[in-house]
Amino acid sequence: MVKYYFSSSGFVNGGIWDLMLSEFAQIWFNLEPGLKAILLTDNLRFHQDVVPIEKARKLGVELFFLPPNTSHFTQPLDDLVFAVLRSQLESFAIKLSNAYSKATIKATSHEIITAAVVLARVPAFAKDRIVKSFARTCIWPFDAEGLLEAAIKNIGGMVDDSEDSGSAESQKYPLRDLAQKVILDVMEEEGQLIRQVDSSSQRVTVAVKYNQAFSGDAILRLHEQENLNKQQKEEEKRGKELAKEAKAEQNAERKRIRIETRTIESCRVNGCNARWKGSKWLWCSTCSNFGVCTKHWREGPSGSGQLLMTDHEANCGSS
Ligand SMILES: [Zn+2]
Ligand SMILES: [Zn+2]
Repeated sequence: MVKYYFSSSGFVNGGIWDLMLSEFAQIWFNLEPGLKAILLTDNLRFHQDVVPIEKARKLGVELFFLPPNTSHFTQPLDDLVFAVLRSQLESFAIKLSNAYSKATIKATSHEIITAAVVLARVPAFAKDRIVKSFARTCIWPFDAEGLLEAAIKNIGGMVDDSEDSGSAESQKYPLRDLAQKVILDVMEEEGQLIRQVDSSSQRVTVAVKYNQAFSGDAILRLHEQENLNKQQKEEEKRGKELAKEAKAEQNAERKRIRIETRTIESCRVNGCNARWKGSKWLWCSTCSNFGVCTKHWREGPSGSGQLLMTDHEANCGSS
């Protein structure tokens, strides 16, 4: 079964990916219910979107991600399959366009390209090409040494292949191998010992983080952890807000009680029976209900009101 997806920009986008993956997973599930399919993808941002991954998993399709920045030599699709597709597409498009230029029926370039894709797909996606592409990229049968070799060559390093020169392995990058041989020969003639390619422009380190999310499962676990962290933060924030509210309520209550208490208090100066009615009195800063009336407070620091307060405050709270 072949499905074509089109976008106005010509590039795949998150919506199309979601649709493609869902439909593929559904087809897979209908064909092989209960059997897992492993889908290898590169690290395009929306390949790691959580919702499509979750939907696909439910139907038995597990995503795994190739190491970042390696898909040009690890992705089977980019190997023979796409190479053949591109060359065939071009040749069919030219043939069709020539044929249409002589025909009475006119076709738009969109129609020509679509027709060319349908024709080019057949040789490009031929089973033996797909199988070969997997083998050449060392993905299946899995070939760890071959992958490492490709990675080293990719960053401009050299691989000692003197023993198996001419083998199928070294046929993978014939031009690059040839160039390396020429360099090695020249260096050898000059009697130089070569341990490694050491020019700064060629020394590149490809780092793969230990916590690199390499599978759909890991993405989902990361997502779950993120959600938990977010939830926890929100709960903490809410807790703080509640504590703040409780504190404010407590303060309001204290103030209310203080004011209530004050209304039943009278001035503490002997013989003064003034009652507080909200006017500006002097109150003890500790117990806040030992008060001196406005009149006695205004007598100043040496007046009976303030002397009494100084005396009270010195002892208030200490007993
Ligand atoms: Zn007091
Ligand atoms: Zn008084």
